[in-house]
Amino acid sequence: MDDRIRDVVVLGGGSAGWLVAGLLAAEHGDSLRITLVESTDVPTIGVGEGTWPSMRDTLRRIGLSEPEFIRRCQVSFKQGSRFDGWARGAAGDAGDRYYHPFMLPAGWGEADLVPAWLATQPDRPFADVVSPSVQVCEAGCAPKQVQTPAYGAVANYAYHFDAGLFGEMLREHAVRQLGVRHVVDHVDAVLSHDHGERAGDLAALRTRAHGDLAADLFIDCSGLRARLIGEHFGVPLKSEREVLFNDAALAVQVPYARPDAPLATCTIATAWAQGWCWDIGLPHRRGVGCVFSRAHASEDEAQAALQAYLDATGAPAERPTPRLIRYDPGYRRQFWVRNCLAIGLSSGFIEPLEASALALVELAAQRLCDELPMTPASMAAVARRYNDDFAYRWARVIDFLKLHYALTQRDDSAYWRAHRDPTTWPQRLRELLPQWRLRPPARHDFGRIDEVFPAASYQYVLYGMGFRPDTQPLPDAKLAAARACFDDAARQARRFVPGLPGHRALIDHIQRAAS
Ligand SMILES: Cc1cc2nc3c(=O)[nH]c(=O)nc-3n(C[C@H](O)[C@H](O)[C@H](O)COP(=O)(O)OP(=O)(O)OC[C@H]3O[C@@H](n4cnc5c(N)ncnc54)[C@H](O)[C@@H]3O)c2cc1C
Repeated sequence: MDDRIRDVVVLGGGSAGWLVAGLLAAEHGDSLRITLVESTDVPTIGVGEGTWPSMRDTLRRIGLSEPEFIRRCQVSFKQGSRFDGWARGAAGDAGDRYYHPFMLPAGWGEADLVPAWLATQPDRPFADVVSPSVQVCEAGCAPKQVQTPAYGAVANYAYHFDAGLFGEMLREHAVRQLGVRHVVDHVDAVLSHDHGERAGDLAALRTRAHGDLAADLFIDCSGLRARLIGEHFGVPLKSEREVLFNDAALAVQVPYARPDAPLATCTIATAWAQGWCWDIGLPHRRGVGCVFSRAHASEDEAQAALQAYLDATGAPAERPTPRLIRYDPGYRRQFWVRNCLAIGLSSGFIEPLEASALALVELAAQRLCDELPMTPASMAAVARRYNDDFAYRWARVIDFLKLHYALTQRDDSAYWRAHRDPTTWPQRLRELLPQWRLRPPARHDFGRIDEVFPAASYQYVLYGMGFRPDTQPLPDAKLAAARACFDDAARQARRFVPGLPGHRALIDHIQRAAS
C-alpha cells in the first residue's frame, strides 16, 4: 500500500505558517492536502519586516507577482544593513558607521581583496572599496530600473514590508490559488496515536468549532508559545542568553514628517548604551524598535532610548505607545520530533539583528519541500538530518550575530563590556578570530552547502567594526588583480548612481503602474 504523507496541518497563520503552507502547496499541491489553522485569540507577532534576498526566490516559487506584492504590502527595497555607533558609540559620526551590503565584493573568491585594500586604501571603508552598494545606498538609489524584470536586480536586494499585509496576501494566494484549506479556530488540545507503530506521534489537533484536524505531518508555526514542540512535546530551548543578552524589544510604527521624505534602502541599526534600535523605512511609515537586555536596562531606560532615537531622526512628536515584546533568546534542542516540525518563532528566536528569522523560515520550508515525498517510516531519518543541519545553522547565526558585538571598542556600559569579554563568545568565534588576525575569513571556514552567512558577510562586519588583520604584502601581480576588482566596483558605482532611479520614485512608479 502507498503510505506516503498526504495530509499536512500547519498550526499558525503568521508569516512562518503562510510561507510554509504557500511553498508546500506550490511545490507539492498535487499530492498533499494542506490545512492551516490559526486562532483569532492569539495575534501574530506583527513585527518581522526585514528580509534577505532569498525572499525574492521564495515569493517567485510560491507564484506571487512582485509588482502586486510591492503594491499591496507597502514594500520597499532593502540592499543591506547599516550599523551606526557599534564600534565606538559615536552614532552621529559618519566614521562610526558601516554597511553590510547584500552584494558580494567585486572579484569575490578570485582576488586577494583584503591585503590589497589594506595596502592601497586602508582609510576607506572596506565595503566602499569592494562594492558599489555603499554609494548606491547613500545616494538613495533603487536597486533596479523601471524596466528591470520582476524579481530581477541591478544591485542585489531584499524587501522591507508590512508584516500584517504580507500575511494577508500570502493567505489569499495560498487559499485561492493554491488550494490551502484555511481554518480559523483555536486549537485546544493535541491528540496522539496511542498504539501501534505510530504510538506517540501526533494524530490530530482538536479545535473548538471545527472538530479534530487529523494529519500525517504537523508543522508547528504557533509562534513564541510553541504549542506543539514546546508545550506538547516538551522540547526545551537551548538558551543563548549568556552569549546574546537581548531578550526584549519595544516596537512602534511612526509616520514620516513629509509623505515624500527620503526612503531608506537599507535597515538602519543604531547602537545605544544597552542595545540597539532598528529603523525600517516602508513607503508610508517607518517601523522602529529598540532591542535591549532586561538584565542590563529597565523598560523605562529602553523607552527613553527609543524616544531619543525617534527625536534624533525627526519622527513627529505625536507617537503611538510602543509595544513591549519579551522573549527568551534561544532555539529548540530539536526542531523535528516524530511527525511534528517546528518552523518560525516556535523553533527559536535570538534577536532581529541581520533579520535571520524569516530567512531560516525560508530555508526550513525549502528543506521540507526537498525532502518530500516521505512516508511515516522514513520520517525519523529525515528528522535526524534536519535536526543536525538546523542546529548547525542556528549556531552559525549566533556566531555571526555575536561578531557584531564582540569587536566593539565601546566601554560605556556593562552591556558592551560584557559583549567584549571573550568568555561570552561562542567557542567557534573564539577559535576563528585569532586566525582572522592573520588572514581574512574564507570559504573553507564555512564549509557547508547553504551556509546562512558566507565569508563575505564576515568580512563586511569584521572590517566595518575596525578589525585589521596582519596580512602579508602581496606580490605585484596579485595586487594588480585586486586593484582591477576595486576599479570594477568603482566603475559600477559611477554607472549605478546616475543610472538608477531614486528609491521612492521607483516604488511610487510601481505602485501607480500596478493600481
Ligand atoms: C522584535 C522582533 C523583531 C523582528 N524582526 C524581524 C526582522 O526584521 N526580520 C525577520 O526575518 N524576522 C524578524 N523577527 C522574527 C519574525 O517576526 C518571525 O520570525 C515571523 O514573524 C514569523 O512568526 P511566526 O509566524 O513564527 O509567529 P506568529 O506571527 O506569532 O504567529 C503565530 C500563529 O500561531 C497561531 N496560534 C498560536 N497558538 C494557537 C492555537 N492554540 N490555536 C490556533 N492558532 C494558534 C496564532 O493565531 C498565529 O497565527 C522579529 C521578531 C521580533 C520579536
